[in-house]
Parts: sequence; structure tokens; C-alpha cells
Amino acid sequence: MADSFDVIVIGGGPAGYPAAIRAGQNKLSVACIDEWRNRDGSYAFGGTCLNAGCIPSKALLESSELYARAREEFAVHGIRVGEVGFDLAQMQKRKAGIVKTSTQGINALFKASGVTGLQGHGKLLPGRRVEFTGADGSKRELTAKHVILASGSVPVELKAAPFKAPHIIDSWGALDLETVPKRLGVIGAGVIGLELGSVWRRLGSEVTVLEALPDFLTIADQQLAKEAARHLKKQGLDIRLGAKVSAARVSGDAVEVSYEDAKGTHKLTVDQLIVAAGRRPFTGELLAAGTGVELDERGFIKVDEHCRTAAQGVWAVGDCVRGPMLAHKGKEEGVMVADLIAGRYGEVNYKTVPSVIYTVPEIAWVGLTEEQVKSSGRPYKVGVFPFLASGRARAMEQAQGFAKVIAAQDDDEILGVHIIGPMAGELIAEAVLAMEYSASSEDLQRTIHAHPTLSEAVHEAALAADKRAIDSINR
Ligand code: FAD
Ligand code: NAD
Repeated sequence: MADSFDVIVIGGGPAGYPAAIRAGQNKLSVACIDEWRNRDGSYAFGGTCLNAGCIPSKALLESSELYARAREEFAVHGIRVGEVGFDLAQMQKRKAGIVKTSTQGINALFKASGVTGLQGHGKLLPGRRVEFTGADGSKRELTAKHVILASGSVPVELKAAPFKAPHIIDSWGALDLETVPKRLGVIGAGVIGLELGSVWRRLGSEVTVLEALPDFLTIADQQLAKEAARHLKKQGLDIRLGAKVSAARVSGDAVEVSYEDAKGTHKLTVDQLIVAAGRRPFTGELLAAGTGVELDERGFIKVDEHCRTAAQGVWAVGDCVRGPMLAHKGKEEGVMVADLIAGRYGEVNYKTVPSVIYTVPEIAWVGLTEEQVKSSGRPYKVGVFPFLASGRARAMEQAQGFAKVIAAQDDDEILGVHIIGPMAGELIAEAVLAMEYSASSEDLQRTIHAHPTLSEAVHEAALAADKRAIDSINR
């Protein structure tokens, strides 16, 4: 194997492995180093997302949702089944199979685009040299014209609630539970708390979510957040806002949690506690002294808008740099950098990064929230279309939520699209495309949407922004 490459990528998650593939497609010689190890000690490319994040969580969300729908909706459809039950071991086996197929797929993709995959630890040395440590501890020095750092992120550990498996666990632990806890506590009503809280609630846990902030889902448009809170509460998630955890300790086979809110100090006893209080950039043992790469005060690798670090020829992408910690944001950064290195055009439009929360109803948005538009001072108009008025959503027995389009009053530019409802995560792609091409709400209004589809909700919300909706009453 060569010791010298055009590009070395350190980290093979959804930011690093696409960077390596695109570099290979650009006919550059490229190696991708990744140290992720599964619980059985085996190596796997794919990082957090494929091994312990996006993919396994969506597998369990799907299984648990099907179970909930079979119990609650089949009768409404006129379908009779015997007593509906579930087999958690089979759900976990299915999830593990999906993860394995996904991560093994990366090896095939690497082969097809000429990427050398190296499994072990990578450390950047000064002068674009990389020290690679293999599984057996042997070390080799590699050199590259360009190095892309894609070392990702890890869960935040709270001083008040240090991890102590199997009782106080992180999101990876929460994806691997072999039994359904009777009483489950979750610290943080963020994306992970809501998604994993939903999984275990549907499978029968009594779930209490403790959120330090006084408002719910502050990253989302508050009209969506209110709607989401209503549905999640109805599903039995006990979300306590303004509740800051001050201590959690394992006592026997339970966890005693203390938290403070406006009314004072409270105690909560649960069987297991998931800490989902955010993630932090991971740069452990990544940078030798003298590389010139700089970190900011929160530990993120400092980069410019094209993901260049302060060191010549060294780039950084994904969760280890500023911006939302999302797989698709990291992917676009990785691809951009690999194209820029090859002398091609590359750009990431951070204004059109979509967000999706895979709860029921699903939540998705792109662009500015109504609160952000309001505080910008720019006059705006809003169109809302409820899924209750969608024939397809009613036929699916999923007529919950709404689509909302916010457009500028002056030139009709779409400023934000927010959807809570069935398949919101799929529907948002249209809005991303529209905003990427600077579409106006009239452009959306004049685009033909097939009937009956859920996508008509976005069409009608755009029409509603001008009080011209056909299938709902304009207010
Ligand atoms: P990572 O995926 O963390 O990958 C970094 C890789 O680099 C790892 O394999 C790590 O072992 C390796 N590495 C680090 N340092 C070194 C080194 N020195 N040498 C060799 N290898 C190294 N995002 C979404 O967009 N959609 C979702 O639905 C979603 N769901 C999620 C669910 C959960 C439970 C979690 C925890 C996260 C979820 N995320 C989701 C976030 C998403 O997983 C991250 O944004 C994404 O994985 C970041 O990609 P990355 O490549 O930057 O880092
Ligand atoms: P988050 O930032 O979304 O939510 C963490 C929450 O914990 C916040 O609301 C915070 O106020 C709260 N919190 C922090 N300390 C607390 C304390 N002591 N007591 C009570 N509450 C406390 O973080 P997350 O849910 O851990 O997710 C991490 C990252 O992973 C996010 O950036 C997210 O983008 C990404 N992710 C994305 C998806 C998706 O795209 N569907 C899914 C899962 C994770």
C-alpha cells in the first residue's frame, strides 16, 4: 500500500466517507481512516450516523410505530388482528441487520471509487503527515497533499448525571436496550430525547422527559412546537419543562433523579435514565502539537465558509466544525471540500439545510421560523394548510398537523417552510429545492402537485399565504 496520497480523510462517518468517495470520483488518490468499533470489537465505517445514530434510531422508530399503529389504527381501517404483541429481540436483530448492510455498503462504495479504507486511529502531524495506528498497535507515517478532518462528535456527559451503564446511558445505550424499562427518564427534550423517548413510550415505558429550558423545542417554529407538544403529550410522553437536573445516582436497580424547576426541588425514580443533553465535537488524540489547526472555545475545529482550517491544506467537515450537527450537512461539506481540492466548484448553502425530527407526527423545516422573520423586521405573510383538509392524509388515517409557508411581503421570496404531519421529512425536500432556487411562494402556487398526495399540503399552504387556498378556508 502507498504511503503517500493526494487526500487523507480522518473519520469515516457521513461527513468523511462521502468526502473520500468524491475525492476518488475526482481521480485523486485517497485514503479514509476510521477507528469506529462496534461492541464486539469489530471495525465499521459509517461513524455515529450509521452505527449508533440516524440509521438504528430510524429502524426502531419504524418498528415501534408499526406496532403502535397496529394496536391503535388497524381497527379503524376495519382490519381485525388477534392480540398485537412485539418481540424486542427481533426488532433489535432487524435493526442490527440494517446497520450491518449500511456499513458494509461503504466498503463496496470505497472499492468502486478507488478509496483505500484504513481501520485504526489517525493523528495529524505537522506538514500534512498522518500517523496511522492499526488494530495491532503498529504505527505508519502517511503523507498527503490535503488532509480532511471529519472526527465527528460524542454525547455530552453531565456532571450531575455521569454515565453509569446499564442505568444511566447515552443514546447508543438507549438504542440497544434488550428489555423495555418500566420507568424511563430522559434528560433533554431535544431531537434525541423526543425520538428515543417515542420509541420506548410506544413499546410501553412510562417516559418522563426533563428539559431545562422553559419553552418546548426552541429550535423550531413555535406554532409547530405547540402542535408537537400536544401530540406527544397525548401519546403519553410526560415532558416537564424548566426542569434542570441537579443530580442522578444509581440506587439498587433504579436511578434517583433530582431536578429543580420554578416550584422547587423534585425527585423522580426511574429504572433507566437516558442522558440526551447534546453532543460535543470530538478531537481526542487527533492533533499533534504544531499542526496549526485551531479549536474554538467550545472545542470545534475553526474553519472558514469553505471548511478550510488555519493550516494550509488541512480541511475539517461535519460535526467537528460549527453549524448544525446533521449527517446531511456534514455530507455536503465533505463533498464540497473534495471538489474544491480537485479544482472544481464547491459551495454549501447553510440557509437551506433542512431539519427533521422523526416523531409522530413528523416535524420538518427549512429556512427561518416565524419568530426569526418577525424579529428581522421584514414584513411577511403566512399560509397554513391543515392535513385535516388533505384527502390523502385522511385516507391514510394520518390527518394531523399542518404545512406552513412564510414568504416576504415585498418580493414574495419564500423565507421558511415548516411542516408537522405525515412524511414531513420527505415533503420538506420540495421546499429546500424551491428555496435553493430562490423561488417565490407564487412559484410554488403555480407548480402542479399530483392529487391526491400529501405534497398538495405544501402547494395549498403557499396559496394560503395569498389567501387563495382552494381546499381550506382562508383566514
Ligand atoms: P461521526 O458520524 O461522529 O463520524 C466520525 C467518525 O470518525 C467516527 O467513526 C469516529 O470513530 C471517527 N474518528 C474520530 N476521530 C478519529 C481518529 N482520530 N482516527 C480515526 N477515526 C476517527 N443526523 C441526521 O441528519 N439525521 C438523523 O436522523 C440523525 N439521527 C441521529 C440519532 C442519534 C441517536 C444520534 C446520536 C445522532 C443522530 N444524527 C442525525 C446526527 C448524526 O449522526 C451526526 O450529525 C453525524 O453522524 C455526523 O457525521 P460526522 O461524519 O461528522 O461524524
Ligand atoms: P439537543 O441539543 O437537540 O437537545 C438537548 C436538550 O437537552 C436541550 O433542549 C437542552 O436544553 C437540554 N438539556 C441540556 N442539559 C440539561 C439538563 N442538565 N437538564 C435538563 N435538560 C438539559 O441534543 P440531542 O438531542 O442530544 O442531540 C444531539 C445532536 O444530534 C443534535 O444537534 C441533533 O441535531 C443531532 N440529532 C439529529 C437528529 C435528526 O436529525 N433527526 C436525531 C438525533 C440527533
